[in-house]
Amino acid sequence: MHIFAIANQKGGVGKTTTAVNLAAALAASGQRTLLVDLDPQGNATMGCGVDKRGLKSSVYQVLLQLATLENARVQSPSGKFDVLPANRDLAGAEVEMVDLESREMRLKVALAAHAAEYDFVLIDCPPSLSMLTLNGLCAAHGVIIPMQCEYYALEGLSDLVNTIKKVHAHLNRDLKIIGLLRVMFDPRNTLSNQVSAQLEQHFGDKVFKTLVPRNVRLAEAPSYGVPGVLFDRAAKGAQAYLAFAEEMIERVHSWKEKL
Ligand code: ADP
Ligand code: MG
Repeated sequence: MHIFAIANQKGGVGKTTTAVNLAAALAASGQRTLLVDLDPQGNATMGCGVDKRGLKSSVYQVLLQLATLENARVQSPSGKFDVLPANRDLAGAEVEMVDLESREMRLKVALAAHAAEYDFVLIDCPPSLSMLTLNGLCAAHGVIIPMQCEYYALEGLSDLVNTIKKVHAHLNRDLKIIGLLRVMFDPRNTLSNQVSAQLEQHFGDKVFKTLVPRNVRLAEAPSYGVPGVLFDRAAKGAQAYLAFAEEMIERVHSWKEKL
C-alpha cells in the first residue's frame, strides 16, 4: 500500500481535482484505490458523486475513533474506488482532537488496519498546514504537490517544504516529496512556460513529466459528481490525469525494483 498526501496550503491550486482524477485513473488501471477526503469542504467527496449531507459516518468519526474505516468508507458510484468522505463535521475535529493522545497519528492508525486491501491511498488535504494536514502527512509515504505555473507559485512552497521536513524529522521518517505536479497549465502563456522551466531547473526529477493543462471539462465534471477522467475521457485534461496515473504506477514499480 502506497499512501500519498496531496498537499499545498494554498487554496484553489488543483489539489482536489488531482486527488479525484488520480484516484479514478488509478482505479481504471486496475489499482485498488482509496481516496481520503481530509477537507471539511467535502469537495472531493461530492466530486466522486458521494452526497456529503447524507453520511452516517465520515472521516471525522474515524479520526475521533467513533467509527471504523470499514463503517465510514463508501464506494464511489462512478469509479471503482473507495472514498472515506468528509463534510462540515470535520471542521470541529481540529479543536476536539486537541487533548487527545497521538492526535496527529489518528489517520495513520486507521489506515494501517487496511494495508492489505489497497494499492494506493490518496489523501486530499485542506488548504492549510493544520492538524488535519498533519494527520495526512503523518499517514503518508510521500507528498504530491500540485501547483500552478504563475509568478507567486514558489512563494509559500518553502513553508510547505519546511513543514514536510519537520514532519520527516520528528513524526514520520517515511515521508518524502514525490513530486511537483504542474496543473492548469497554459502552453500559450510565456510566463507559464518560464515558471515551468524554472521548476524543472530547481527541482529536477522532482517535477512530474506529466503536465495538466487548463481544461474546462475538468472544471465541469464535479457538478455532475463524476471524476473528469470518466466524464470526458477524450478531453485533454482527462488524458493528462490518465497519463499521470501511469507515471505514478511506473514510479512505484521503480522503487520496488530498487529494493
Ligand atoms: P484545491 O483543492 O487546491 O482548492 P481545486 O481542485 O478545487 O483546488 O481547483 C480549484 C478550481 O479550479 C476548481 O473550480 C476546479 O474545477 C478548477 N480546476 C482545477 N484544475 C483545473 C484544470 N486543470 N483546468 C481547469 N480548471 C481546473
Ligand atoms: Mg480542495
